Amino acid sequence: MTAETSHTTSTTSESHEFQAEVSRLLHLMVHSVYSNKDIFLRELISNAADACEKLRWRALTEPALIAEGAKLAITITAGEDKLTIADNGVGMDRGELIANLGTIAKSGTRAFLDQIADRQENSRLIGQFGVGFYSAFMVADEVTVVSRSAGTNEAWTWRSDGMGSFEIERAELADAPEHGTRVVLTLKDDAKTYADGPTIERIVKEYSAHVPVPIELVAAESEGKELTDGSALWAKPKSEISKDEYKDFYGTVAGQWDEPALTIHYHAEGRHEYSVLLFVPSMKPFDLFDPARKGKVKLYVRRVFISDEVELLPAWARFVRGVIDSEDLPLNLSREMLQHNPVLDAIRKAVTTRILSDLGKLAESDAETYAKVWDAFGAVIKEGLYEEAERRDDLFKVARFKTTKSGDGWRSLADYVKDLKQNQTRIFYVLADSTDRALASPHLEGFKARDVEVLLLSDPVDAFWVRTALGFDGKPFQSVTQGATDLDQIPETETIDKPADGQAAASLIAYLKQQLKDRVGDVRTSNRLAESPVCLVAPDYGPDKQFEKIMARHEGLGQMSKPILEINPGHAQIAAMTRRLETGDTAALEDAAVILLGQAKILDGEAPDDPADFARRLGRVLAAQLG
Ligand code: ADP
Repeated sequence: MTAETSHTTSTTSESHEFQAEVSRLLHLMVHSVYSNKDIFLRELISNAADACEKLRWRALTEPALIAEGAKLAITITAGEDKLTIADNGVGMDRGELIANLGTIAKSGTRAFLDQIADRQENSRLIGQFGVGFYSAFMVADEVTVVSRSAGTNEAWTWRSDGMGSFEIERAELADAPEHGTRVVLTLKDDAKTYADGPTIERIVKEYSAHVPVPIELVAAESEGKELTDGSALWAKPKSEISKDEYKDFYGTVAGQWDEPALTIHYHAEGRHEYSVLLFVPSMKPFDLFDPARKGKVKLYVRRVFISDEVELLPAWARFVRGVIDSEDLPLNLSREMLQHNPVLDAIRKAVTTRILSDLGKLAESDAETYAKVWDAFGAVIKEGLYEEAERRDDLFKVARFKTTKSGDGWRSLADYVKDLKQNQTRIFYVLADSTDRALASPHLEGFKARDVEVLLLSDPVDAFWVRTALGFDGKPFQSVTQGATDLDQIPETETIDKPADGQAAASLIAYLKQQLKDRVGDVRTSNRLAESPVCLVAPDYGPDKQFEKIMARHEGLGQMSKPILEINPGHAQIAAMTRRLETGDTAALEDAAVILLGQAKILDGEAPDDPADFARRLGRVLAAQLG
């Protein structure tokens, strides 16, 4: 993804078009109705701090990259309708300027743009996405970036008014930082307040007080005032940190504007020594379901930022944000060493255990906040049930479910097991595309008539873990649409109509087997139906029907096994078919059999196998009935 060169205006200045997504984003920024414009400063400071931390890390192996005597820092200069944010970090060369400030590599960008264009109230979304560098155009008519990549002898200027293109030209070395980047904003008429020192001081204190690089302010009122010292918040004792400071740091490290739902801060000693400051957000980030499933926890070694690309947590915990700072690892870790490192493996295990235990405590102590966490991240946490069998029992403890009894709330498996009915030995579930669809399933009728709770599983991942999980508390999981249930053992609380003559149903079953033998594996009476005449279930062994559907969608696999047709002998429609069979007049019964199978499909939210044939037969039966 690189921005295109549209034309060359001179040998030294080139104009480049922004990538289409950037243009859309900039249009939003330039015409922003977003009231809290202050956020642009945190985004620029965050970029500057990242650049300093990257250079600090590179200089571990190449100390000459940092100019002699230089202290890595961010300097903000305010005055005369301009605001400058300068850092002496890694800087960008020409190619990086074009790629980084002309395109958006971030996943979820399109989804973000589509959503934000739809809505008036877009501040929440801007915060959730983290607009980054481009937010500068909310307050600036023109942005100029002068950058020199550390270790090179070239500097480049990037300039844009945010209207579709940007200019790149070579900068004089004398005008450029020795290494690092200077971002100069020419402030819009309605944003001149950002040239005031006190305004900048307030915003930095509010949003960026715990950036791990010192920030200095130069303004008319103050000749070089240190606003923050860049000390690591996670290294301080818990008792000295206020809730607001945690929240501010969360914003800095996560790039989000919501309140963290859970803060986990501790120092571990023993075989390995490290500090942990992690947050569970209360809002979904845009890249939660990105196929790369990457986490963003930052690894530090003795207060030096090393990388945010190391998988410090399992993929199912990728929504957790924050910092892990090791005291034991060497500073000059190569990428390979980071990938397969026994110290990191041990830390990953211990921290994951801690996250699960703290989530469990939150669920106990503050069910309302925990419900938010589960709403946002439950579908991701459940991936762990499939991928980390050894953690399954702990994950089950924090897992919450929609069930036929949960109403607006959530139920735990412990709640479920506590309320088992007499003779109930299994945990029943139904898989569907949504909770509503699950609730509409005819398979649930017999469970309702016995007041038996059923888990409503509607996340795609559910079909996977529930097949491999052995059970909870000794109770196996059982799909309501699969195999024989032991429902007959459980007493009914609402009476289900039953036919007087059991034998007659047997003849109808034999007839249906004969008529439908190419399409169904078996026909039998059902104990899971109360109001509907018919349903389809999967055989005892083999995949659940919903699982087959998901596989068919993703893998293009056809149906693997023929379903079983279950009929409700107490239903008027079945009773009428039974009577007709007894009279020996089976002409209309052929139509009725095919229609019955079609009904079962429709009740599952699917089309009959041959919709035209189904409609024709239905028409014929209706005509005879009404005529
Ligand atoms: P993000 O920071 O979320 O990646 P931005 O749009 O803010 O998105 O920045 C895009 C990229 O530009 C950054 O990832 C970084 O590589 C580069 N960048 C921005 N500002 C600086 C800076 N001050 N120094 C070095 N690189 C920078």
